[in-house]
Amino acid sequence: MNTLDFSIRHIGISEKDQQEMLERVGVKSLNELIEQTIPSNIHLPEELNLPSPLTERELIEHISELGSKNKVFTSYIGMGWYDTCTPAPIQRNILENPSWYTSYTPYQAEISQGRLEALFNFQTVVTELTGLPLTNCSLLDEATAGAEAVAMLHNTLPKSKKKATKVLVDERVWQSTIDVINTRCIPQGISVEVCDVFSAELTEDVFGIVVQYPDANGEVKDYTQLVERSHAADVRVAVAADILSLAILTPPGEWGADIVFGSSQRFGIPMYFGGPSAAFLSAHDDYKRAIPGRIVGLSKDRNDRPIYRLALQTREQHIKREKATSNICTAQALLATMAGMYAVYHGADGLRDIAERVHGYANRLAILLKDLGYQIKSESFFDTIVLESLSEQEIAKIREIAEEVRVNFRYDKSGTIGISVDETTLESDLGMLHYIFAQAKGLEVDTNVCYDSDRCTAKLPQSMVRKSDFLRFDVFEKYHTETELMRYIKRLERKDISLAHSMISLGSCTMKLNAASELFILSNPQFAFIHPYAPKDQTEGYMEMLDNLSGYLGEITGLPYACLQPNSGASGEYAGLRTIRNYHESIGQSHRDIILLPISAHGTNPASAIQCGYKTVTVACDNDGNVDVEDFEKKAKENADRLAGTMITYPSTHGIFEPEIKKLCQIIHDNGGQVYLDGANMNAQVGFTNPGYIGADVCHLNLHKTFAIPHGGGGPGVGPICVKEHLKPFLPSHSLIYGDGVTPVSAAPFGSAVIFGITYAYIRMLGVEGLKRSTAIAILSANYMAKCLEKEYGIVYTGKTGRVGHELILECRKLKEETGIDETDIAKRLMDFGYHAPTLSFPVHGTLMIEPTESESLDELNRFIDVMRCIRREIEEVKEGKADPANNVLKNAPHPQYEVTADEWPFPYSRSKAAFALPYLLENKFWINVARADGGFGDRNLVATMSCCVVENQRNE
Ligand SMILES: *Cc1c(COP(=O)(O)O)cnc(C)c1O
Repeated sequence: MNTLDFSIRHIGISEKDQQEMLERVGVKSLNELIEQTIPSNIHLPEELNLPSPLTERELIEHISELGSKNKVFTSYIGMGWYDTCTPAPIQRNILENPSWYTSYTPYQAEISQGRLEALFNFQTVVTELTGLPLTNCSLLDEATAGAEAVAMLHNTLPKSKKKATKVLVDERVWQSTIDVINTRCIPQGISVEVCDVFSAELTEDVFGIVVQYPDANGEVKDYTQLVERSHAADVRVAVAADILSLAILTPPGEWGADIVFGSSQRFGIPMYFGGPSAAFLSAHDDYKRAIPGRIVGLSKDRNDRPIYRLALQTREQHIKREKATSNICTAQALLATMAGMYAVYHGADGLRDIAERVHGYANRLAILLKDLGYQIKSESFFDTIVLESLSEQEIAKIREIAEEVRVNFRYDKSGTIGISVDETTLESDLGMLHYIFAQAKGLEVDTNVCYDSDRCTAKLPQSMVRKSDFLRFDVFEKYHTETELMRYIKRLERKDISLAHSMISLGSCTMKLNAASELFILSNPQFAFIHPYAPKDQTEGYMEMLDNLSGYLGEITGLPYACLQPNSGASGEYAGLRTIRNYHESIGQSHRDIILLPISAHGTNPASAIQCGYKTVTVACDNDGNVDVEDFEKKAKENADRLAGTMITYPSTHGIFEPEIKKLCQIIHDNGGQVYLDGANMNAQVGFTNPGYIGADVCHLNLHKTFAIPHGGGGPGVGPICVKEHLKPFLPSHSLIYGDGVTPVSAAPFGSAVIFGITYAYIRMLGVEGLKRSTAIAILSANYMAKCLEKEYGIVYTGKTGRVGHELILECRKLKEETGIDETDIAKRLMDFGYHAPTLSFPVHGTLMIEPTESESLDELNRFIDVMRCIRREIEEVKEGKADPANNVLKNAPHPQYEVTADEWPFPYSRSKAAFALPYLLENKFWINVARADGGFGDRNLVATMSCCVVENQRNE
């Protein structure tokens, strides 16, 4: 045993276990298994070229060395990112707590009540602050939320506007938001006009306008008349809003906004050089079917008790495939949870205190600067003042003095300086600001005076000063002490299954270890407190890490040029397709608009293609689960004139390495298209083969799957794309960092910059050998499971040699025919055993897809196998007539604690069979507090915030 080797901590299988598993699988060596699994014509001829592995200790030292190359200045830059105080109990008990960060998207409601409640809180916060009733539980960032808002308006045009194609975006919206709206609108045939919306004419072709509140100059304007005028012309209004300001400003919903969106970053999420943080979006009830992302709804369980669940069927857009109006899948759940909890901790009074203090310091600062003779652009601001009419020399002087004392402002070529104060600003900071601006004028000031916050809203338009109260619900009133908050968080945490409890074998999602040492970077102030627009010489540590990582990802994928912007896999898909589209335009092939998609493609693939303005043509799969090559070739040829490309997942979503993959790539290239490889299954490739070698032109990676970033209960995710040389000039860029941007896809130049540190650590600590062994063990564990369960269930697809890749699909359809027990019953019954279900009914309806990953031990694999066999025996009892087909341990699962311990026990089987079917449960039982959710009820009666609950209750009274 080499205790310096991190791979022994990451990989669950020892050499000894490996031997036992190989025997069970029926091969002599790991090599032999790989030979039988990965087609020989795609094996890499050479080893990857990556740095030799670091120990955990060396990694920590290395990260801290990189951190010391970043310079943490006090930031007054603003522009969508603000310094904030992350409440310590939230940092320690959520951000740094594996129960929260390793959990999966809460599709299985009964074992996700904690995070569902936390997200329901977030939705309530957004609704109450924005004044609009319907909200989702996060989007990727403010800029993409803006693009989603425009798409929503465009997808729900009133009759009079059916032909309208233009959106007016006010010139005082963040440039990053304008840029992403532009990127996203062009393929949709929507024209974006950036203008002063107050003076713009609302012509027939205009369907919507976008304004910002407060605007990019920090000004709080009264939009009431603009909204009235717009509505009179059947033009809808989307508003980008600062969430903190809404504690003292009139909610846009109250002055007529149709959609409100923004970032919740300043609710306790460090700036992290741009991300991650959660965006929000709220809308009128009319937009119920158009809203993107996920919505948590309150429903009831089998016993009529309340239960939170994802209001899934009508809401998760990407599941509608080609008909989807958004491709968003992974969002920012963990960050939304934290932001919601920040509001729980502070309550309405606390939020108001923070907002008033911030506003008060801005007021005080304005007075001080005016006294020094500076000219201020607008008197009506929340937290940002803009100094104007400054000469180049004045700006240079101010900048020099400011940087001397480690302070960043927002400098603009137009001769202005922006100063955004925030929650962290204190009296002493005001003294410092006073000093800087006095010095620049050659004046001495006494900074030993009182710089009290001037809590006065008199200078704001009085119609824009908030009069309505908000967040008067128990949960926002009760947990303001650390003791109470800690216990509340713990109470929620106890309701959820995460990787801290047991294996989560979700196929396609790769729920592997998220090692503690990989995650330390998140709590390092030298990475946390960096603004995304900080000057380059302050971010050298970040840039070194990101540059190195781009190189590693290029090496691993065989596609040498990376773009780190996309904040999720689906966002990566979009970025990749957009890159292809840009490329085709550049070579005079902009008519190419067809994407071939295998029927087995993940829902985000068709959704992304449509978002990108493409049409999709579906290709069949053969009986072995492979793409039907004949059909593929036929459709490529038929559409050769218009073929833009294909999107293929490899190994396929069926978990099989298709032997003909090279041929598929060739067919596309022969017909003028580009090959997009969906890298969600990269965990079966790393070190042995790669997209570039296979023949792809572009791929995305789900770093939150293969590369160890935790799922966070549904985000953050990261979906960087890697491309061949000819596509490099067309990658997304960022106008605020690189000058003219090529179709940026995220608000921040490097997307969720800080969490690249997790992937960086993963690659640096495993090295080539560790990465390859991870891949091989992932494949071994899947094949071992397949062998152990094939008799009981049957494996839907295996390759020609009888092997699966890194995941396997269990057949459940026949059991359902014979017994009425379906894959959902199995999923719910697994909860009684303390397990999260595998992937349900994807990519094949009526099946379960299991991906054990390399991180699970043989003991854990065997325990899960025992459970699956036990469940299989229970199904057999139904088949044999020993159990009632409608009233049995499977149909009634899961069995909540209140049922198991009730005085009455109405079921025809014993309590111990329900709750303790295997001996290990006596020692380690995960108790569930709700019975099976009634999905239909929740969708018919959507209750997505506490504010609605109040309305519902009033109606009932
Ligand atoms: C997870 C997944 C995606 C989408 O990734 P997100 O990060 O959730 O957007 C796309 N394709 C496949 C095959 C996946 O498994």
